[in-house]
Amino acid sequence: MDFIRGNGTYQKTIEGLKLLNEKYNKAYSIKTTLMKNNIHEIEELINLAIKYNCNTIKFNCVREDGRASQNKNDIVLSQDEYIEVIKSIEELRKKYESKIKIRAPLNIFGCDDDYEFIPELGFGCFAGKESICIDPIGNVKPCSHYPKEFICGNVKKDELRYIWNNSPILKQFREFKGNDTCNNCKEYTNCRGGCRYRCFKDGNINGIDPFCYLKNNLSC
Ligand code: SF4
Ligand code: SF4
Repeated sequence: MDFIRGNGTYQKTIEGLKLLNEKYNKAYSIKTTLMKNNIHEIEELINLAIKYNCNTIKFNCVREDGRASQNKNDIVLSQDEYIEVIKSIEELRKKYESKIKIRAPLNIFGCDDDYEFIPELGFGCFAGKESICIDPIGNVKPCSHYPKEFICGNVKKDELRYIWNNSPILKQFREFKGNDTCNNCKEYTNCRGGCRYRCFKDGNINGIDPFCYLKNNLSC
């Protein structure tokens, strides 16, 4: 953790967990980003969360963006590493289910118990459909990773409701066609078409997620 967040951060986080445990015993969650340098410590992280009476530990995957791009070789997972870690999280989820809720990124195992697929919202992740990012200076984007050409408006100039209802960029996100892209994949309701940002980085925002588990088996 100190490698990513700076010297002393791990110890500060432990102090924070102690405080959360005292005030919000079993009523708080923590979120951890999966990177090359922590994917072999997943079980230790889960046990740490259990030790401090955390209700849910959620794992997300680092995306190639900002300083993660600059340090890509040390941080960003390969597709194989990603698949392996998702499988191991699924095993750990079963092993620790009586002690803690474990949530992984959307995937073909559908191992996120709280996740409910909403067909009306169509293809792709939640970005621009159920979730939105407002950055520190008020810019609105479908999710935090997208570059400036994806800015849909600014809450200092327009009401968020207006931006949400009128942005052509958000409209584009709501019009992705999963069946065309994912070839009627049988895992769609679990995976929901993967990460659009990874597709964007891969050169085609309407393409197949380069981390797709089944990509090599599809004729797309
Ligand atoms: S083809 Fe891949 S990305 Fe698309 S829904 Fe299926 S598993 Fe997900
Ligand atoms: S585009 Fe990718 S990183 Fe952004 S919200 Fe969707 S799944 Fe998450």
